[in-house]
Amino acid sequence: MAGMGLPDKPVKGRFAPSPTGRMHGGNIFAALMAWLVAKAQGGTVALRIEDLDRDRSKRAFADQVQRDFERLGLTWDEGPFFQQGRDGRYREALEELRERGLLYPCFCTRADLHAASAPHRGEKLVYAGTCRGLSEGQRAARALERPGALRLAVPDEDIAFCDLIQGPYGQNLARDCGDFIVQRSDGLFAYQLACAADDADQGITSVVRGMDLLMSTPQQIFLRRLLGDAAADGVQYAHVPLMVGERDRRLSKRDHDASLDSLLDAYGTPQAVLGHVAYAAGLQEADEPATPEGLLQHFDMARIADYFPDKEQILWR
Ligand code: GLU
Repeated sequence: MAGMGLPDKPVKGRFAPSPTGRMHGGNIFAALMAWLVAKAQGGTVALRIEDLDRDRSKRAFADQVQRDFERLGLTWDEGPFFQQGRDGRYREALEELRERGLLYPCFCTRADLHAASAPHRGEKLVYAGTCRGLSEGQRAARALERPGALRLAVPDEDIAFCDLIQGPYGQNLARDCGDFIVQRSDGLFAYQLACAADDADQGITSVVRGMDLLMSTPQQIFLRRLLGDAAADGVQYAHVPLMVGERDRRLSKRDHDASLDSLLDAYGTPQAVLGHVAYAAGLQEADEPATPEGLLQHFDMARIADYFPDKEQILWR
């Protein structure tokens, strides 16, 4: 099983913000947890700006998020690494997978996908494999109609790991996940591919992030293995509960009260904001200013799951 407890080599965590908007309480909480988990084990943190989606990513947000991390005391030891500029690496990764016969073009439209896929385990859609069996001739004919996406053909294999907060989690790739997209029909590399290649190349051994990505983890472990990452099975995972504005509705840009700017207006200093986030998350008893170092003094890795009675969501307050 991957990710059992504490790794035996130096711990390297990461912040992986997508520069598509300003930070809010939920992003700050996830970054704080990534920092605490790495530092509590004497580890380091890399900063990776996930600007894969060129249309939605803005340089101004990428600059801003770095300033915000700095102000909050969320320091990083390596990076920033950017996904833009790594197209060559992602292409090479796809080439490796293609040579092993693991990729096939998929011409399904969004409507086809919804018709052919059963929602499974929450919101994950399992691809029915519609385009897997197309002949070369059929592929050529379909390619004339519309560009294809590329899917990774997955085996009937269980991938399991033990999440430090969520506990044991696993998926059977064929049944619970299905063949998944590694390159979109518009040429954009898929998040799963970029994330796995980056985590592998950047030597990430500790992945701490929002609970919404728990179900992507088996895919990423599988991809890291395929890309020949010897560390793929020793990675430590902690998926933190999502901050929600109200039950079952995660914080978003619409929750202006939780945006970093509003928080700075309301609480005055970055330390007061960080302290408030830590308080809302149950990491400290009182709603008082805090620094990451200060919180680290009292942070108990062995009790990490106990901080969160509700492991899925935390009501923002
Ligand atoms: N870039 C993603 C986000 O900002 C995080 C991806 C990850 O941590 O793997 O939500």
